[in-house]
Amino acid sequence: MSHDFDATCLSLLLNDLRLPAIRQIWPGFAERSDTEGWPAARLLMALAEHEIAERDRRRIERHLREARLLPGKTLENFDFDAVPMVSRAHVSALCAGDGRLRNGANLILMGPPGGGKSHLSSAIGLSLLEKGWKVLFARTTDLVQRLQVARRELALESAINRLDRFDLLILDDFAYASKDQAETSVLFELISARYERRSVLLTANQPFGEWTKVFPDPAMTVAAVDRLVHHSTIFELNVESYRGRTALQRKQQGPGRPASFATPNNVGVPPRAEEQQ
Ligand code: ADP
Ligand code: MG
Repeated sequence: MSHDFDATCLSLLLNDLRLPAIRQIWPGFAERSDTEGWPAARLLMALAEHEIAERDRRRIERHLREARLLPGKTLENFDFDAVPMVSRAHVSALCAGDGRLRNGANLILMGPPGGGKSHLSSAIGLSLLEKGWKVLFARTTDLVQRLQVARRELALESAINRLDRFDLLILDDFAYASKDQAETSVLFELISARYERRSVLLTANQPFGEWTKVFPDPAMTVAAVDRLVHHSTIFELNVESYRGRTALQRKQQGPGRPASFATPNNVGVPPRAEEQQ
């Protein structure tokens, strides 16, 4: 049948043109267009829109695989009531992807363990990724190890350059483990390379004043902090551990409460005085 022949030929042409979404959906669209009498331009538009939407979806999927974000951590399931010092509106504005974080502006999340820094940073990464940003989430120690290997292979510069393709680099637990001179210096190279060009989001358990204890080279630490803090937004999540609080709340509610008790609407609400006894 000539229709079959045309279909096969069209399929090949669409393949050559790298239009896989149109190749897949055109028969259904063409049939609808015939029965509903669409003008040709409308059919063409519908096909083109479909291809673009599919391309965006595939791109986001690819970026998500690369980003290594924490699974299941989103802004929707982050309980902002638990961190009154961080406003949802401010975070949403930063995540609007409208340039506030572009051109090397940084974001720093500080606070004690369990306060939600990793969750919030990954969620911010996801939100920006959905707006087309390329993001990489890394534990600082892992990335430092990789960069040190690269340096031993005399490839530090190209390793740092490869990280340039990420609009946002999330360095989780930046000031967690103490670092030796070699580790500090690769971090310094990375921060200097991104300064005022590419953004960094870092989380840290230690306030800036303590960083000199974590990094052995005080001059380099001061220079790194200086670059990070310049053009940065700092959120201090000075709250108790979220897990600790929710566990305490469950205990106070007595045994046998369903696990669903720990919903974002309930958690983070400070226990009432009578519940604390
Ligand atoms: P940090 O990185 O500050 O040590 P995490 O982000 O790892 O803390 O948080 C510990 C756990 O508590 C994670 O499972 C996280 O999803 C949860 N959590 C912390 N804060 C919140 C919050 N405000 N809303 C929802 N979950 C939270
Ligand atoms: Mg963390």
